[in-house]
Amino acid sequence: MFENLFVPVGTLLHMTVASVTDEHVRVDLAAMAPAMPCPRCCVLASRIHSRYQRTLADVPMIQRPVVRILHVRRFFCNQAACPQRTFCERLPDLVAAGARRTTRLRTEQRRLGLEVGGEAGARLAQRQGMPVSPATLLRLARRAPLPVAPTPRVLGVDDFSLRKGQVFGTILVDLERRQPIDRLPDRTSDSLATWLEQHPGVEIISRDRATEYADGATRGAPAAVQIADRFHLLQNLREALQRVLEQQVAAIAAAHALPTEPIVPAAAEQPALTEPLTVAASADPLAGRSRRERLHAESRACRHVRYTQVRALARQGASIHAIARQLELSRQTVRRLLRADQFPEQGQRRPQRSKLDPFVPYLRDQLATGNDNAAALWRVLRDQHGYTGGRSQVTQWIANHRQLCPPGAGTVRRGRPPATQPPPPPTPRRRSARQVSWLFMRPFDRLDAEGQQVVERLTQAVPALQTAYTCGTSFMTMVKTRDYAAYDGWISAAEQSGIGALQSFAVGLERDGAAVRAALRLPWSNGHVEGQVNHLKRIKRMAYGRAKFDLLRQRVLAA
Ligand SMILES: [Zn+2]
Repeated sequence: MFENLFVPVGTLLHMTVASVTDEHVRVDLAAMAPAMPCPRCCVLASRIHSRYQRTLADVPMIQRPVVRILHVRRFFCNQAACPQRTFCERLPDLVAAGARRTTRLRTEQRRLGLEVGGEAGARLAQRQGMPVSPATLLRLARRAPLPVAPTPRVLGVDDFSLRKGQVFGTILVDLERRQPIDRLPDRTSDSLATWLEQHPGVEIISRDRATEYADGATRGAPAAVQIADRFHLLQNLREALQRVLEQQVAAIAAAHALPTEPIVPAAAEQPALTEPLTVAASADPLAGRSRRERLHAESRACRHVRYTQVRALARQGASIHAIARQLELSRQTVRRLLRADQFPEQGQRRPQRSKLDPFVPYLRDQLATGNDNAAALWRVLRDQHGYTGGRSQVTQWIANHRQLCPPGAGTVRRGRPPATQPPPPPTPRRRSARQVSWLFMRPFDRLDAEGQQVVERLTQAVPALQTAYTCGTSFMTMVKTRDYAAYDGWISAAEQSGIGALQSFAVGLERDGAAVRAALRLPWSNGHVEGQVNHLKRIKRMAYGRAKFDLLRQRVLAA
């Protein structure tokens, strides 16, 4: 019965020798069939010409590589009419002709190559007892047969970047079967049109808003219904809202300030830059601030210099292209800085939650009584209050809040003068135009209290922003609920809004009108394609971005 472990099931072989060492398992096998059919004339032959050995690698056993020594025979073909004089024994169930590894080992190794790639696959294979070189794994992966996919009825098309932001490919997904079908090496209309011509029968094509795919789909499958992907519709809306908000930098800053300060709508004329640069002041106002705050102030100063340079060059009549080249900025950045009505502050990230948060009131009380011994406080928190975070977190917090100590109290530190300035009042999180644009797509009751306050103050101070907010939320609701009936009304509202960015967004929608209307009428969307793009990115990163297009295609489609 143990022989079953060593002899591949379904083969006419018997084991002659088996040995197990620390390095490997060796199994000698010999064929049992007394006669073999000639591959040419198919008549059974039994006269043996010679015997020889083949050494094969097989799938591992007890975590050791398996070496199979196959004792095989060469037969004479006795048929006078047959041109084949001799032939060797074939074992097609076990191994391909001339191969050095069994079919099942090749299948396992190919799977490793497809799933985890060359280098990592080779390391795993070594551990699992089927050693193989990275190059061989990739060769096996490249030769993997591709599954034959039927032509989809509903096709999702999207791009992905092969090299970050420089080279793009196209991913094609069957949206009904939720399967990737193919990859195209670029994102041109020609490639898509050619693919569609070779695969007739696609009835519905969901695509982004770029003209290339629209054109390719029209030429390759003129009868198919095109759908503008809803995710991309909302993305375009958000970008339009961001452009509107970038002209209201002053209002956004004021909306995040304390409620006592009034909001001034953007003036038509560019206001003079009167705000002082934080790091340029003679007396260092950052004395006693943390390293992070200093770095932040330095980077803000750099951005401020860049902003003034861009504005100055534009005043001298330089084109966006020329400014971008001279200052080594992207044209998009230059455009954004020129649109802004004042220096755009960077948005702040939402503060991350920390394990220390529940204990902050306690720490404040302690500092107020003059106790700023971080090590002692950490021990008390850990032993008596159940704090599970690290000691450095407590130390850092104390260092940042030592000004809460009453004057003269607390430990006197070497090197750092005691803070003399009163602590700055806590200010609400500041948002960039981009971050506010997300708020402008949400219905008011779906915003948190902070978001509601910002939206309320902006829309009350600047009437155009009230219009933009209404347009933004109603478009969002229309797309989410696929409210086809609301579309025409929304377009005319946007056209009459008097807001340039929204008007050109509406013009763009109307240019692609049939596909946008289809997006509101039909249930299909590219959500699943995005998932496939993420899967593809994961594979690409696993290969450190070095996988060539053919291998990437194999690993996505054959895996
Ligand atoms: Zn023959």
